[in-house]
This record gives sequence, structure tokens and C-alpha cells, in this order.
Amino acid sequence: MSNAKPKLAVHKFSSCDGCQLSLLNLGEPLLLPELVDIVHFAEAGPNDPVAEADIALVEGSVSTPEDIGRIKEVREKSATLIAIGACATAGGLQALANFTDRSAWMAAVYARPDHIEALQHSKAISDYIKVDFEIPGCPVNSRQVVGALRDLLSGVRPRPENRSVCMGCKRKGLVCVMVSKGEPCMGPVTVAGCNALCPSMGRGCYSCYGPLKQINDRSLAQRFTELGLEPEAVARRFHFIANHAPAFKQAGERLKDSSHE
Ligand code: SF4
Ligand code: SF4
Repeated sequence: MSNAKPKLAVHKFSSCDGCQLSLLNLGEPLLLPELVDIVHFAEAGPNDPVAEADIALVEGSVSTPEDIGRIKEVREKSATLIAIGACATAGGLQALANFTDRSAWMAAVYARPDHIEALQHSKAISDYIKVDFEIPGCPVNSRQVVGALRDLLSGVRPRPENRSVCMGCKRKGLVCVMVSKGEPCMGPVTVAGCNALCPSMGRGCYSCYGPLKQINDRSLAQRFTELGLEPEAVARRFHFIANHAPAFKQAGERLKDSSHE
């Protein structure tokens, strides 16, 4: 019987590296040294981007022509592929440019934009390949990632979180920032995972974890309006870090359209 351990690869696409760093911050628990061989994780040392892997973690969005070929190759080499973080699961901040004229932005930022090879749209990993599981967050909660890895290594399919940030507030005994301070908060439509980090600091959630499976965006948008936000500002709440998660993309577009009526 083979004693070979499952192989783990961590790939980076267009991203800030924050999700990889949050994995590194875990230290020993991440490395799971008795459970896996890390065959590729350039941020941590092992560097073999074409290595075959039993499980691949993918950070970042697809934003360049080269990214398209690379993500397809990663898919071919990986038995199970998990997209981690807002960039990989919902486009991330760089996908905000999808709502604008990207060429105009590049011309404003770079002296020689003709040297930049970028796609017109920055997209989530699942727009190009089959993704087996997604873990949201900006950055991702590394304990959720390790939990999913442990599930997979035990032969169990990881279960997606489906509680809201509000539930995290209730569990921690936090007073609702929207009710008590009139602070617009995306918690009611945002999937849990951060342990209600922002409300525990007394501020509203801006939904870096993206949408719950089912959201009542109309009701929340109405509440934001009552709290004094202009229609475009309400739309921007949905078109922020998880802007290309379908539920938020549609909600933001509907709100933008209605602000022009
Ligand atoms: S999801 Fe956030 S922390 Fe992770 S790579 Fe993207 S921008 Fe960085
Ligand atoms: S409270 Fe919202 S914005 Fe803050 S870390 Fe959690 S999901 Fe992200």
C-alpha cells in the first residue's frame, strides 16, 4: 500500500496575495505536514506551477489572456479545485473596471497602455472552468480553508456556509449597528465566515464575503434609502468587492438603472 500523501497546490491569478498571506499566517496548522505534500505554493516556497495535484486552491481572478490558458492547465492538473477569496469567486475589486471603459482607465494610469495585456473584463474562476467548491472573503478566512481541506481529505464534501453576518452578531451578543446607529450594513445579505468582524468594531459590513444563497436586496436597499443614501450610493454597496457575484451584480444594475429614471 502506498504511503504517498495527497498533493496540494496553491495557485495565484490576478490578486493582491492577501488570501495566500492569510493562509501563511496560520503557520503550522496550514501546512498539515502529516496530511499533504505541498507541491506548489510560490508564496511559501515550493514552486512548480504545472505540478499535478489532488487539491488545488486558486486565488485571484482571470484578468489577462495568459490567465485563461493557465487556469485551464491548472484545471487539467487538479483533481479537486477550490476557488478562494472574493477575486476568485466574484471578480474582486479589479472587476469593478468591468462596469467602465477599461481602456480609458489604463490610458489614465499607464504612460504606455499599449504595453499592458489585459482582458476587457476581469472574471471569476468559474467563468472559465469547472470549480468544485468556493470559499469567499477578502481575504478568505484561513480556518474555513483548512476546514474544507480536512473535509476533503476525510472523504467528505465541504458544506458551504449559509448563515448571514447578522447571525454572527447575534452569537457574539453585538448590538445591531444599523438599528442602534443608523449605519448602513450589508450584514443581512452577506454570508457569514468572518465572525462579524466589522460590526464587532462598531461599523457596518461592506460584504467582502459576498451574498447569501438567497437575499432580499430590495428590502435592504429600501432601508439604506430610508437611512439617507442616494440611489447610486445604494447601488455601490452591491457593486463593491463581490461585485460580480450574480445576486449582487443584478441588484446593483437594477439599482443603477432605477437611479437614472
Ligand atoms: S480576495 Fe481580497 S485578499 Fe484575497 S487576493 Fe483578492 S483582494 Fe486580495
Ligand atoms: S463584516 Fe462584512 S465587510 Fe467586514 S469582514 Fe465580515 S463580511 Fe467582510
